[in-house]
Amino acid sequence: MTRYSHSRLSTYEKCPYQYKLKYIERPDVPLPPGTIEAFMGSMVHGALEKLYRDLGFQKRDGLDEIIGSFNASWAKSISDDVIVNNPEHTAENYRLTGEKCISDFYKRMHPFDQMTILGLETEDMMDLPNGHSYHVRIDKLGCRGKEYFVCDYKTDGRMKTQPEADADRQLAMYSKWVRDNHRDAEKTYLLWHMLRFDKDVVSERTDAQLDDLVSKTVALIDRIEGCDEWPTNRTYLCDYCVYKAVCPEFSHEAELKLLTPEQFAEDDGVRLVDEYMALNAQEKELKGSIEAVKSKVISFSEQKNVAVVYGTAHKLSVKSSDKVEYPKDMERIYDALKKNGTYDDYTETKFSKDLLSKDVLGGAVGKDVMREVSVGKGYRVTPSKRGREEEDG
Ligand code: SF4
Repeated sequence: MTRYSHSRLSTYEKCPYQYKLKYIERPDVPLPPGTIEAFMGSMVHGALEKLYRDLGFQKRDGLDEIIGSFNASWAKSISDDVIVNNPEHTAENYRLTGEKCISDFYKRMHPFDQMTILGLETEDMMDLPNGHSYHVRIDKLGCRGKEYFVCDYKTDGRMKTQPEADADRQLAMYSKWVRDNHRDAEKTYLLWHMLRFDKDVVSERTDAQLDDLVSKTVALIDRIEGCDEWPTNRTYLCDYCVYKAVCPEFSHEAELKLLTPEQFAEDDGVRLVDEYMALNAQEKELKGSIEAVKSKVISFSEQKNVAVVYGTAHKLSVKSSDKVEYPKDMERIYDALKKNGTYDDYTETKFSKDLLSKDVLGGAVGKDVMREVSVGKGYRVTPSKRGREEEDG
């Protein structure tokens, strides 16, 4: 039996290779310093946890006390290692943002009687139908009579949208745990406190939706369990990946960073890439030169009114034909074809311009399509060897 969690499943969804490293191979890699966003989030969580824990002991902390506790934890834990990615904002800007999150929330919720608190930073496991278990950790679990609230604090700089909340797996799975463990729960709300915006986002799931979610989660876990290929998924998130130095997408680059300039220049990979790119540039240049000569051959054949131009040992046959020119935006063509019901005639696996060109040149398409295209001249220049009898001298 394996313990799954929202973050474990998200890791697989974002990058299967990262999943393999994190949960299967577990290579020894140094933990990178955290970001200021994550640091601020954890400090705010800590302050609000204290607020509600103290309330559980009939101690209602004043706003100053909570802010003081937040600032004390901040001062104790902040270090130069915490990464501030945005050059326009300092760690102090984030501290002030954290203060504002707490202050706004405190004022809006005071006197904190919206719900009875049942748990803070809860820890439990939920059994899944495929024999595995699912980790449940709720920032704040509360109830008001038979209404339950699964609450999550967010300090993100982007407001969560309703469609995102309605599609969220994390709190929805936790609400399944609530329904299984609190039989009086008639309604369970998923509630995100979006602290930077002093707003809440609320969503709900029906029993049928939760059953469907559990089935999908189980199917995802089964896919992971049966997985034997773990592709990398290179995205902007790689910059935050702990395994970047051992990931095949970046490991050569990481090795190079450790080399002296002399070793770097001698590295086989560096030399091969440089050689490949030099040849590639030559190839491009050569292609450009060939095209230029081809144009001249075409002009020559037209001026001289000859179909074949002869060289020493080879000849070039020049054939012209009508060629259909298409606009950059093919959507207009597709629309015209769909309108007259012939779009499917050109899409066996994917749209075939060749088939359409044949019909354009044969006059077998409607005016709507003809309006979008133009017919010009295309040339084919084909080289071949001169026959023995053709050779001069
Ligand atoms: S660096 Fe990127 S591609 Fe490589 S494991 Fe990490 S997330 Fe995946």
